[in-house]
Amino acid sequence: MVSLLANIGIMFFAVYFYLRSSFGSPNQGNETIAYFIKSILLEVLVGIVLLSFSTVILGIRYDFRFLMFCFSAKYLDWKITSPTILLLGILRFVWGNNDIAQSNLIISILLAVTLPLLVRYIEHRLNELPQLLVLVTYALIPTVVLTNQMIADKSLVLLISTILFTSGYAATFVMHFFITDLYRLILSASTDHLTALKNVRTFNNELMDVEREKKPVTLAVIDIDYFKDYNDSFGHDNGDLLLKQMAQVFNELSAFDTDFYRIGGEEFAVIIDTPNQRDAEAFIHDLQEIVAHRRFSTTSGDPVSVTISVGVAHSRTGETLKRTLKRADVALYQAKKDGRNQVIVSLPTQ
Ligand code: GH3
Ligand code: MG
Ligand code: MG
Repeated sequence: MVSLLANIGIMFFAVYFYLRSSFGSPNQGNETIAYFIKSILLEVLVGIVLLSFSTVILGIRYDFRFLMFCFSAKYLDWKITSPTILLLGILRFVWGNNDIAQSNLIISILLAVTLPLLVRYIEHRLNELPQLLVLVTYALIPTVVLTNQMIADKSLVLLISTILFTSGYAATFVMHFFITDLYRLILSASTDHLTALKNVRTFNNELMDVEREKKPVTLAVIDIDYFKDYNDSFGHDNGDLLLKQMAQVFNELSAFDTDFYRIGGEEFAVIIDTPNQRDAEAFIHDLQEIVAHRRFSTTSGDPVSVTISVGVAHSRTGETLKRTLKRADVALYQAKKDGRNQVIVSLPTQ
């Protein structure tokens, strides 16, 4: 029992640190082959730790890789989970040299194929914790079947199964708690509390990523016109409410290639991930008009109109994005000087 608890403890920390490092990897949809290889190697290493600290229950050796597989299948890409399960299955087969090594390999192949499918099936049907419990139950079934084949005494099989399921579920509850906490932490570090838009830190990180990938992008800096007067007329709470409603407009317009950030008090930035400069400019012009025609409301429900000024700059080869952002800022300053409620695009000569 002590060794079982120790095993779960080791599993828990190994998987926790593994997931922690995985969450710090590239954004979704942005993964590179290097990221997949790194993740697989990392997960295999964690699996080896679990293999070497396996538990012996009534003469049969159990390890807790299946728990890691369930979490991996739930939170990471199947392109990481399935190769990891297979690699560890082969390792166990080569090193295991006991009578259940072969069955273990078959279980590994089975899980590598079916776990990601099961995740896809239950993903939109269940909440997160029930999903994990279903996955853990599913991943435990082959082990129980195997035990059943090896031990004739059915009451012993029942005892072992109870130990396995209880410890598996307990570990799942604890892991789920930590992962939810981890997500909250990552989210609060990357988003703005008031508007729930991504914050300036995330904006800077994203700029670094874009710079590294050398993708052509359009940057826009948005500033609410006469916001100080708005605060003075309606009060600070109404100012906050306006910022939230503005973020709502941005969220409605946000797309897979267009991300909005709150980079200052009443300043926002957009990264438009497209080589088509005309489309990007059209998008910004639409945005400015949509805001100008939108009726925002105060805490007392009165409708108010607000405008924004926008400075736009397209990235150039050989120019840092810091410089592109500076040009967008200069364009914004120009938009303010020219009377506000307009978009100014940084000219190629600037
Ligand atoms: P301009 O058209 O030139 O942009 O004029 P402005 O009044 O919007 O410009 P300015 O930058 O002088 O004013 C910004 C104001 O935004 C000042 C500050 O009180 C207010 N502000 C900054 N952050 C917040 C916030 O989180 N909530 C509220 N309610 N007000 C904020
Ligand atoms: Mg400002
Ligand atoms: Mg302003």
